Parts: sequence; C-alpha cells; structure tokens
Amino acid sequence: MINAYAAMSAGEALKPYTFDPGKLGENEVEITVKYCGICHSDISMIDNEWGMSSYPLVAGHEVVGVINAVGSEVTQFSVGQAVGLGWYADYCESCEQCHNGDENLCSNLTGTIVSHHGGFADKVRANANSVIALPESMDLESVGPLLCGGVTVFNPLVQFGIKPTDKVAVIGIGGLGHIALQFLNAWGCEVTAFTSETKLQEALDMGAHFSVDSRDETAMSLLPRKFDMILSTVNVKLDWNLYLSKLKPKGRLHFVGATLEPLDLKVFNLTEAQRSVSGSDTGSMQTSSMMLEFAQRHGVKPVIERYPFEKINEAIEKLREGDVRYRIVLEY
Ligand code: NAP
Ligand code: ZN
Repeated sequence: MINAYAAMSAGEALKPYTFDPGKLGENEVEITVKYCGICHSDISMIDNEWGMSSYPLVAGHEVVGVINAVGSEVTQFSVGQAVGLGWYADYCESCEQCHNGDENLCSNLTGTIVSHHGGFADKVRANANSVIALPESMDLESVGPLLCGGVTVFNPLVQFGIKPTDKVAVIGIGGLGHIALQFLNAWGCEVTAFTSETKLQEALDMGAHFSVDSRDETAMSLLPRKFDMILSTVNVKLDWNLYLSKLKPKGRLHFVGATLEPLDLKVFNLTEAQRSVSGSDTGSMQTSSMMLEFAQRHGVKPVIERYPFEKINEAIEKLREGDVRYRIVLEY
C-alpha cells in the first residue's frame, strides 16, 4: 500500500489517503520518497486551474528517493539506488518527439501528477525511462527542485543557444526564478532580476547583476532596451508589451510560467525589431542530466525551506501566500 496526501476535490486541503498501486509494471520502478519539492504547478493541479485534474489527486513532482523495487524488464536501476523523478513519469518512446530526444514534448506523455499519483506520498511509481540516477555526491535534500523547476529554466538556455555574452532577465524570483538566476550567472550572462522590493538584495546575492522592482513603473520604464532574452516565471498577467519593448532587436520573450490570461501583444512590438515570443515545458531526460551535471560543477543549489510531510497543508498555504524563500522541500 502507498500512504499519500491527496486532494479529494479542487482547492481542498490535502488529507491522508492510502491506496493499493497493484502489481509493479515490468518497466516500472517504485521509489521510496525521501524528499519532495512543492512547485506552483502542484497548486494549479490541486485547484484544477488547468482543467486536467482528476481526484483523489496526489501531487508532488520534484521527488528524491531510493529505488525499493524494480520491474522484471528494468536493468538500469537497482534497489537502494538514489534517484529523482520530475514532471513526467512515462513517455511513448515511439513518436517523432521521443525519437528526436524531446520526450518532454511526447504527445502521450504521462505527467507524474496527471491521472497518476505523485510524490506527496511515502512511495511513488514511474516508468524507469523517466527516472534519473542521482550522483552520490549530490546533496539529496536540495536536489528535488532542480528536477522540475531547475530543468524548466535550464532548457531555454539550451534550446535557444543562449551565449555567455547575452543579457538575460528573469521575471519572478520564486522557485523557478531563483534557480534561473544561478544558472544564468554560471552560464556567463549578464543577469537581471525583475522581482518584488523585498527580494531585490537577495536576487543580487543569488547571481543577478541588476535587480529591478517589477512593481515600480518608473524604474521599469527607464530600463534600456538591451535584453537578448526575458524569461517569465510568473503565473499572472503582466504588461507584456512593456517587457517586449525592453528586448533588443531579435530578442525573445520566453514563457515558462503558466499565466492563464491570453497574451495581448502589439504586433508592432514584434515586427519593428524582429522579436520573438515562445514557451517551453520542462526538458528532456538528456537536458535534465546535462542540467544536473552543470549544477554540480557550478555549485547551483536551490535555496530551500524544509517541512516535515505532516505539515504539508501549512507548507502549501505558505506557497499560496507567496511567502517562500525560495522552494519548500517536504521530508520524510
Ligand atoms: P512561485 O515559487 O510561486 O514563484 C512565482 C513568482 O512569481 C513569485 O515568487 C513572484 O516573484 C512572482 N509573482 C507572483 N505574483 C506576482 C504578481 N502579481 N506580479 C509580479 N510577479 C508575481 O512559483 P514557481 O513554482 O516558481 O512556478 C512559477 C510558474 O511556473 C507557475 O505558473 C508554474 O505552474 C510554472 N511552471 C511551469 C513549468 C513548465 O515546464 N513550463 C514548470 C514548473 C513550473 P517576485 O516576488 O520576484 O515578483
Ligand atoms: Zn513543477
């Protein structure tokens, strides 16, 4: 049996929930959960904000643990090995995207918390193809947030060939944003944080060269149009035309934050300087491995607040209030 914390309907506090996962699939592994980060996407799924939740819903997709069982066909993992699991728990391995090494874009992707029970539990299962071996030297308690938040902000650097000479800004310094600042600094870029007033200094401490109060209209309007890329990690609607106007010619406004309101972009802001707008979801398995190696080499490490699993509702409430510095990690 698996002992989890589940939402029984949209927006509810989580309740203890025990279920029988059945026989382990031949390509699956079962992971004993040691740590699990809380991503804003967990809240969006608990609340059914994206219209794809099914209940009981067991969220949690920044899982760190050890293998406790392997299916009969699994050869790459053994019991006792430290592993991680991120946003997806399976992919088809046979579509064009999978063949191209873009498993995160597989049209038959199984999300770890989408019609599948995730890591807010003592155990979680996944196809071995989605599980990542963690180097022994990695700090297990803080690595979880890299497995969703980390790869999500690392992936655009790889996809769009960001150069060390580029000037890149990050909007929103939360779970994703604070890791993005560290990656961009290590990548060699000039880094700007658009953040709230209380985080201006901390953003500089985490790797930004400049930090700007994103709620200060004067400070924002005075910025030069110098950015090669602006990465949005917020889930709210902002003045996107203002951000677009701060991109230099051929610059890119890239979305990873799941803002629900449609974009209201002035086409002239794109055409006059040949700017682009794009979005991406997590990253492939290969990008995840590359990201972990890069993080280790450069000392990129999520800044975490630890909570025992029993206090999961308190932790979720804190994230809802925007009060977390900078990622909560639940621990068993
Ligand atoms: P988070 O920790 O809550 O951080 C979000 C940040 O957005 C906040 O810390 C805040 O930063 C900023 N923000 C919030 N309200 C704002 C407002 N009214 N005006 C301006 N800024 C505001 O969330 P997260 O876990 O980093 O996730 C961020 C988003 O990414 C969510 O929508 C999540 O679902 C999405 N996500 C997407 C992917 C993907 O693959 N595409 C993966 C993971 C997460 P400041 O205080 O600095 O302004
Ligand atoms: Zn996530």
